[in-house]
Amino acid sequence: MKERKAMNRALVSTEVSTKPAPWADDAKVLADVAEISRQQLAPAAYRIDHEGYYPLDIMAKLGQAGAYAAHQDRYGCRYPLALATMTEISRHCGSTGFMSWAHDVCGLYMEQSGNPALLARLDDHVAGITFGGTGLSNPMKALTGIEKMALKAKKVAGGYRVSGTLPWVSHIATGQYCGAIAAVEKGDGSPSHEIMFLLDLDERVTLRACPEFSGMEGTSTWAIPLVDYFVSEDQMIADPAGPFVQRIRGAFVLLQVGIAAGVIQGSIDSIREVEPVLGHVNQYLHDRPDELQAEYDDILARAMTLAETPFDGSKDYLLDVLDLRTQGAELSLKASTSALLHQGARGYLMSSAPQRRIREAQFVAIVTPAIKHLRWEMAKLMNEELPA
Ligand SMILES: Cc1cc2nc3c(=O)[nH]c(=O)nc-3n(C[C@H](O)[C@H](O)[C@H](O)COP(=O)(O)OP(=O)(O)OC[C@H]3O[C@@H](n4cnc5c(N)ncnc54)[C@H](O)[C@@H]3O)c2cc1C
Repeated sequence: MKERKAMNRALVSTEVSTKPAPWADDAKVLADVAEISRQQLAPAAYRIDHEGYYPLDIMAKLGQAGAYAAHQDRYGCRYPLALATMTEISRHCGSTGFMSWAHDVCGLYMEQSGNPALLARLDDHVAGITFGGTGLSNPMKALTGIEKMALKAKKVAGGYRVSGTLPWVSHIATGQYCGAIAAVEKGDGSPSHEIMFLLDLDERVTLRACPEFSGMEGTSTWAIPLVDYFVSEDQMIADPAGPFVQRIRGAFVLLQVGIAAGVIQGSIDSIREVEPVLGHVNQYLHDRPDELQAEYDDILARAMTLAETPFDGSKDYLLDVLDLRTQGAELSLKASTSALLHQGARGYLMSSAPQRRIREAQFVAIVTPAIKHLRWEMAKLMNEELPA
């Protein structure tokens, strides 16, 4: 599988010669992304899921269509459009939807850093000329007290030296990059604060293969071991990282709802697809398409409202986002199971979309923040409201 991934990478050319169009027209961006997703991504979904094909070529086209621009301040901070494009991509391939989210939040880190060196790299990133993901699962859990920080940093002249291993980071390859966070240690080894930086996966880093996963095999997911990796000022996203993470975490989690929404809508599509031939007996199943569609519409409407104010730092806003993300994961699990039941043997074929979506939905439920992590965080936030 990993050999195939490496070979695929070698075959993929992501070179584009022109700078991006302005992507000012929401309807055109969405229509173009939907067309690429339907015509190019959907036929590749089996290859991505089963053969570990890393679809950078298709992601480059999505980038050129504006799929990764809308949420950026420099392109109008249009989170509703960013959610809509992520939904459209995930509807046809959850793996590419997840990588699109990773790419989007990486762009978010770069822009919100305000670092001129990272801002200079941003246009190529949003246009799908260069690619980068996010290694924030471990830090997100570490910052809330679930586990220990995997990367440690020491201050040195002109920057930091970072060591440790991130166990699984997707949408990366040699020559690409990802957002990362390390805990800074003082000279005596005691903790000081955290830094966030853009980890360039250059010749200093040897990516390590992960064990085979039950799904998401085309997401180019690797372990990143670092030994005294030098982080320069040009790579710095935030120092200290704490306030930065507080500021972007609502947007980070909210954008994931687009992956859930796509998996749910794709599942409903699969149910409707077999209504003409199986509707007479499928009517006896629970979680019928109209019921699921109503639940989906409610989730999407709430997401679009929250998307109007992605940097609202209030506790109520964050609780709403966490709750929505949890419900999105739960409805993904329910809708994908229902799609399999509705499609019957067709859906049980290895090549079928419903059985792939079941694994995509499971991923939505376990990727950070996993359902258990979301509930931990909500309980923590609610408890803060209790009198001491
Ligand atoms: C396909 C895939 C892609 C991913 N992509 C990214 C990404 O792009 N960026 C990112 O930051 N994270 C990524 N992750 C990690 C993911 O977001 C979760 O953090 C991870 O699945 C652990 O989830 P959890 O919170 O349920 O922790 P749990 O499963 O409850 O585990 C807690 C901790 O135990 C350790 N652990 C558990 N099982 C194992 C194991 N088999 N091997 C090693 N350690 C283990 C890990 O430290 C883990 O964080 C990916 C995971 C998968 C499976």
